[in-house]
Formats: sequence, structure tokens, C-alpha cells
Amino acid sequence: MTLSAAPLDLDAALKRILDEIPAPAACERVDVERALGRVAAEDCRAATDLPPFPASAMDGYAFRWRNSIADLRIVGASLAGHPFSGPVGAADAVRITTGAALPEGCDTVAVQEDCTVADGVLQIQGPVRHADNVRQMGQDLRCGDVLAERGRRLNPFDIGTLAAAGVAEAPVFVRPRIAVLSSGDELQQPGTALAYGNIYDSNRYAVASLLRQLPVETINLGVLADDEAAIAEALRQASRDCRMILTSGGVSVGEADLVKSVIESLGRLSFWRLNLKPGKPLAFGRIGDALLLGLPGNPVSTIVTYLLLARPAIQALCGMRPQPPFSVRCELAEPVRHKPGREEYQRGVLATTEGQALVRTTGDQSSNRMSTFAAANCLIRIPKAAGDLAQGSAVDVLPFWGLL
Ligand code: AMP
Ligand code: MG
Repeated sequence: MTLSAAPLDLDAALKRILDEIPAPAACERVDVERALGRVAAEDCRAATDLPPFPASAMDGYAFRWRNSIADLRIVGASLAGHPFSGPVGAADAVRITTGAALPEGCDTVAVQEDCTVADGVLQIQGPVRHADNVRQMGQDLRCGDVLAERGRRLNPFDIGTLAAAGVAEAPVFVRPRIAVLSSGDELQQPGTALAYGNIYDSNRYAVASLLRQLPVETINLGVLADDEAAIAEALRQASRDCRMILTSGGVSVGEADLVKSVIESLGRLSFWRLNLKPGKPLAFGRIGDALLLGLPGNPVSTIVTYLLLARPAIQALCGMRPQPPFSVRCELAEPVRHKPGREEYQRGVLATTEGQALVRTTGDQSSNRMSTFAAANCLIRIPKAAGDLAQGSAVDVLPFWGLL
């Protein structure tokens, strides 16, 4: 692959990155209880029918249906977990509760509100059709049905469904190890007294927190000084231990922007500039078997490029099929200024006013301003070719819930 001189559009950059993602690592089996958020390494199939037997959908009386139903003799009860095992004749009925097994010989349940009972004799008042109020065996799921396809990230509903279908263990991909570090002489840890001219490191905290949303093992390598040898040593070490390295800072064209040159000397740089706002400097390459994403230093750029590029790359590394983030078209509540030439993602607030979804930006969008995230609940995509957008213009909005 040749090094791109021209800044890459977001789509082209994402494709370049995804093309280099290797197949997910090994698979392990984990208890379904511990499988939340993990990625299925094989299709997970139901181990039983659900319901496993014909069952009542209501509290009532089970009996064998026929055209005209005379009084029925109640011969017993079938409760959830306590099935009725005796014989049920054509003139008999069995008291039954929701979820209880339908006794042999019965095919229909009359709901109790439609029934009267006197001296052990049942009269059904309401109309009842054959098989009413019965959940047939396997009506919900059949044994062998695929409940979670390979590549699916298991959510709480999947966990519940797998358990319901008798699956005790799920095959999942091993969590890839990802290193995260910040670079810059000016960076200090929160909790230390800030020297004049310094700032607190925020990117490592934000990125490590974002990584907690994914099934990865994070190795936090702290802050590196603007020192080529130190950066080279840290990246060389991390490239042996980790499948991906996320750095921030040190990738633009300033004198202390060393991450890029270290990638070039230790490995291979694929591209280092994006045609994106925010996020112009972004380096992608590899050192040995590890992929390296050098995110820009400005905190807003770090987070936005993480969401748009690092996140899908890591999802693919985890074995998930990459999917574009959920987006929805909404109207701008206020005008937005934009110079054609670069796709832009602004932080926005999506809200409904009298049933109409409207989106507005969080004000000044400078890429150092973390406060643009404070009220935000979405990103607003401004197309590359767009000029200034008037109030009421339709824009694509990416809610944060689809990005976290
Ligand atoms: P750089 O790309 O290293 O020149 O960084 C661009 C800007 O982002 C500079 O103003 C840096 O001080 C700032 N910056 C870099 N890394 C961090 C970080 N980890 N936390 C907060 N700000 C940062
Ligand atoms: Mg720097």
C-alpha cells in the first residue's frame, strides 16, 4: 500500500483501516451469565424447544375441545412446575395456571373469567375455539434455531433468550488487547498540581472509558513525553503485547509530533491526514502485527475520530460485523455555518418540540472545547460539499446511544 499524500475522506480512511483488520483471535467458552457484551464466535443455537411442552397461556381450565361443550367434571389441577399426570376424559377438565403443562388429552383452555364452578363441575360461559389460550410446544423457539449469529454482540435480551433455550455456555471471541496512551510534554495527571503552561491529560481518560464499552482488554500506558526514543520504546513494547495501539497527540506537523515518525521508523505508515473536521491529523499504520491509530491531540478531535474510526475498527477486531452507526434525518433548529470541502461532525442536542425532532449545535465547536460535549446527545453530520445551512435544513444526526 502506498502512503497517501492527500488527506483521506472519512469513508476512504475507514475502508483503509478495515481492510487491515485481521480475523478475530481465538474463541473461548464462557458461562452465559458472563457473556454479556461478548461477541458470538459461532452461531448460538437453542438447546430446547420453547415452550418445551404445550402450555397454558392463561389461568383457567384445560379440556378437550368439541363442538358443543356441556358441563365438565374437574379432575385435578396443573400448576406451573407441577403438571397433572392423571387421565383426562372427554367430559373432564383440569384447573390450569399460566405456563403450566397442558395435560395429555387436553387441547384448549377456557379463561377462568369465562367459567363458573359449582360442586366440582365446570360450566364455560364465553365462546371458546379449538386451541384457544394454548402455547404450542416450540411456538417461541425450536430446538436448533440460531439465537445469536456469529459476530453478534450479546445483549441482555440475547443472554435471557440463550438461558431460556437451555444454553449454559456461549462460544465467544477472546477480547483483543488494546493499548492506550497520551503523548505530550504538557500533559499532567489529574490530582497533581498543574505547572504553568501544562494541562491535564483528558484523552486517555476519555478513550479508556470509551473502550470500556467494547469487549476488549485495555492496557493503559500513561503519558509519554515528546521524546522520540521513549515513544519508540513504548510503541515497540506495546506492539508485541497488543493487537491495536491508540495514541493521541503528536501526529500533526508541529516539531514535537513524533508518533508519526516513530511509526515510519518502526513499521509502516498507511496515512496520516484526514479530510475531516474535527480530526485533520490522524495517523494509521502498523508496527509488527499491531495496528496503530494515532488520534489527534485536541480532545474533541480525539473523541470524534475515536467514534468514527477507532470504534468500528475495534469492533471488527473483536469479531463484530462493522455496521454504520444509526443515523436519522432531522431538521436544524438553527442555521449552521460550514465551508465546503471537508465533511464535519458537530456536537448537537437532538430534542423534540411539539412532536417534531429538531437538532441544534452546542455552540462554538472549537476542537479543544470539551464543553461542547456537555449538553450534547448526538453528532450532526455536515456533508463535505455543503455550504452554510439554513434553519430547517435536513441533516443526518448520529445519536450517542448508537455510538457508545
Ligand atoms: P498535538 O497533536 O500533540 O500537537 O496536540 C494538539 C493539542 O491537543 C495541543 O493543544 C495539546 O496540548 C492537546 N492535547 C494533546 N494531547 C492531549 C491530551 N491527552 N489531553 C488533553 N489535551 C491534549
Ligand atoms: Mg503534542
